[in-house]
Amino acid sequence: MPDVQPALTGLTPDALSEWLAAEGQPAFRAGQILDWVWKKKAASFEAMTNLPAPLRAKLAETFRLHSLEHSQTQGASDTTRKFLFKLHDGRYVESVLIPANPALYGEKSDRRTLCVSSQVGCAYGCKFCASGLAGFTRNLDASEIAGQVLAAEMLSGERVDNLVFMGMGEPLSNLDNLLDAIAIITSPWGLHLGARHLTISTSGLVPQIRKLAAHPQQIRLAISLHGATDAVRQQIMPLNKKWGVDELFGALDDWNARKKQHLTLEYILIEGVNDDLDQARILAMHARRLKAKVNLIPYNTVEGLEWKRPSEHQCRAFRDILKNAGVTAMLRLEKGHDIDAACGQLRLKQETEEGIIEAPAKR
Ligand code: SF4
Repeated sequence: MPDVQPALTGLTPDALSEWLAAEGQPAFRAGQILDWVWKKKAASFEAMTNLPAPLRAKLAETFRLHSLEHSQTQGASDTTRKFLFKLHDGRYVESVLIPANPALYGEKSDRRTLCVSSQVGCAYGCKFCASGLAGFTRNLDASEIAGQVLAAEMLSGERVDNLVFMGMGEPLSNLDNLLDAIAIITSPWGLHLGARHLTISTSGLVPQIRKLAAHPQQIRLAISLHGATDAVRQQIMPLNKKWGVDELFGALDDWNARKKQHLTLEYILIEGVNDDLDQARILAMHARRLKAKVNLIPYNTVEGLEWKRPSEHQCRAFRDILKNAGVTAMLRLEKGHDIDAACGQLRLKQETEEGIIEAPAKR
């Protein structure tokens, strides 16, 4: 990676105080600077008007204010919006801002959810996913993860109420940076968002699930399951060969023993792959035991991939089996179908057009 100034959005109060002390500045300046960054959302160092001009100049010489440069937005304020951000090394990441969902939060709610990326690309190669199409490039650092929330709030002028780490990448394979970002996001000097409003979505990295279960914050966990048996899951998620469903469910039992928040099982319905009603019956059995709710997401077509969305009739029949077994199951007609909202598609398009990566082969 090219040498680049550190981003101010990656600094904790301690790190900033240390730098200020070395500059001969009083400690209270750290609070003022963090307030400008995270609360007042200053767009430049010059805007930090209660800081002396020489300190502002020194800050600008030493740090970048933000780690992300806005590249484009798709969608409008009353729909799902996707933001594409350029990173300092020329790579791109996406975040998706999803407006209130009355089905989830009730008619009067105006809560907004941001889907946040944790890596550029992904190494896990799930067969239905655009993020994994061009392989893994690199982890995002804490400033690049937390910075997506700040940038989305600045661009939209709206407060983000919920976060889902469900964008590009496998968040649990970048766990240290993710936890640093979460510390910034949840701290009173940062974005001050309650941990229970944060959901980490994983494809099932068993050791990291166990590690996260021991973390003191009440963060929510969602599992990208997409198959209720090894035979079906393995067809579309290669990591299932390493951690099969029994091992995964064992780690989820451990999670349940330590956490108060209910688990969510995400299940993308793909025609002829995992939409058989026998899978619904097995899924219902596991979900009941884990007291997990199930989100059923009919597949969103991804350019370059062959998979298809099942008929609405089949999706409803699958959902009804879960419901009849007493499982809370939502059939989600995914938003953003028309703006390449499936994670990773916009970044893939941009990096291919710029010649950063080759167009991935069809599979
Ligand atoms: S679904 Fe998640 S883990 Fe699988 S390739 Fe896509 S981003 Fe990676």
